[in-house]
Amino acid sequence: MASAVTPRNEDYSQWYLDIVKNANLAQNSAVRGCMIIKPYGYGIWERMQRQLDDMFKETGHQNAYFPIFIPKSFLSKEAAHVEGFAKECAVVTHYRLMNDPNGEGVIVDPSAKLEEELIVRPTSETIIWNTYRDWVTSYRDLPLLINQWANVVRWEMRTRLFLRTAEFLWQEGHTAHATEAEAQEETLKMQEVYATFAEEFMAMPVLRGVKTESERFAGAVNTYTIEALMQDGKALQAGTSHNLGQNFAKAFEVKFQDENNKEQYVWATSWGVSTRLIGGLIMTHSDDEGLVLPPKLAPIQVVIIPIPKPNEELDAKAHEIMAELKSRGIRVSYDNDKKKRPGFKFAENELKGIPVRLGLGKRDLANGTIEVARRDTKEKASQPLEGIVDHVASLLEEIQQNLFQTALDFREEHSHTVDTMEEFQAILDQDIPGFIYAHWDGTAETEQKIKELTKASIRCIPNDSVGEVGKCILTGGASERRVVFARAY
Ligand code: AMP
Repeated sequence: MASAVTPRNEDYSQWYLDIVKNANLAQNSAVRGCMIIKPYGYGIWERMQRQLDDMFKETGHQNAYFPIFIPKSFLSKEAAHVEGFAKECAVVTHYRLMNDPNGEGVIVDPSAKLEEELIVRPTSETIIWNTYRDWVTSYRDLPLLINQWANVVRWEMRTRLFLRTAEFLWQEGHTAHATEAEAQEETLKMQEVYATFAEEFMAMPVLRGVKTESERFAGAVNTYTIEALMQDGKALQAGTSHNLGQNFAKAFEVKFQDENNKEQYVWATSWGVSTRLIGGLIMTHSDDEGLVLPPKLAPIQVVIIPIPKPNEELDAKAHEIMAELKSRGIRVSYDNDKKKRPGFKFAENELKGIPVRLGLGKRDLANGTIEVARRDTKEKASQPLEGIVDHVASLLEEIQQNLFQTALDFREEHSHTVDTMEEFQAILDQDIPGFIYAHWDGTAETEQKIKELTKASIRCIPNDSVGEVGKCILTGGASERRVVFARAY
């Protein structure tokens, strides 16, 4: 049998690690906090990248690439930015090694000290805005809509595969605009692109909201977020879009001549999602049998398994079905390994989260049928071979929809509205706490105090929150709307 997975209700974080390991997604590396993404995990990332990249292009963005190293002096130009990132920066100080005169091995050559130390980018605002100074001179150069696909390094102390790593893969959009209104429009547009991607492709429902001041990106005027709820009732910040105001333009002297020949500072945004999304995908849909993938992101959508083993007749039929599925753009594979038994293959393909399995047996073939099993509900049915491709195509859509609906129902079931600290704590004491809508007096002190008392933080103030007069659950102070609390990854 394929290696088993620890049940979720026994040990949720072990379950998560088992899936990452046994489904061959990633593994820890020799470097603390950095992961090795294996081909199957990388295949999911590639599908995410392709889709997001298309969506960025459709909204007018172009890709570019900036260096991995940032001169230390750049980082300090924006005060809040350096303050926020200083504690997690990897710094390059030397550029050469030499043989150790006292023994074996190599040491850093002390004479090869860099004149200016370099930071391995934790995010690229500074090097990009230093470049935009040359790229932008007139209103005709705006808007500037750039994205880059890259790796970044944040020296995180507590890491977890995909969810929080010291090096991660991501995309970062960096845009420049002539007006404050345009920058705000862009910030919200990209939050909506992320939300659409999460919901329509990852089948992961998200709350769209704005962060409180203390959770803002270092250097931003406002941070918009998409927040998802994991199966253990904890929230995951799945993507962020920042309105940077004129902070970086002022720090890097990026100005333009407007239509009236007046010199003005540029308005900025930045936005990013990372390989964390793969962690979110796992913790939204998977079960005790292994990974469950939404068809739109599954590297393999359909697997055909010959029963009990491949032979000429089954191979021919399988290839015929595969060709037809492929012509419809469906990603299909034929598991014709002679050394493994069907039961083993079933378990293995379940573990890998392949959405649809077709079992092709000799008797089925004689009867003109084929067995169709779906990964999400584990339902199995015998289907006529005639029209099987149409059936599979619509089944994939149904699975995509069902995964989203199931996740949405789960989130609704685990969203609570409370008015007192006692009720708040009672929800957090449940096995699967979820999102808690409560009143807050709007101060950073209260937010911090609630976090210390309960380990729950304010995830966001929803974009669509309606005004509602109330009293803060902790201080009784006046509140104009409910905010969303949760314990979070
Ligand atoms: P930020 O630049 O801090 O707004 O981060 C952009 C996105 O990257 C966040 O929304 C997270 O989803 C993701 N992210 C931040 N830190 C990490 C990390 N250590 N590992 C993986 N993803 C991260």
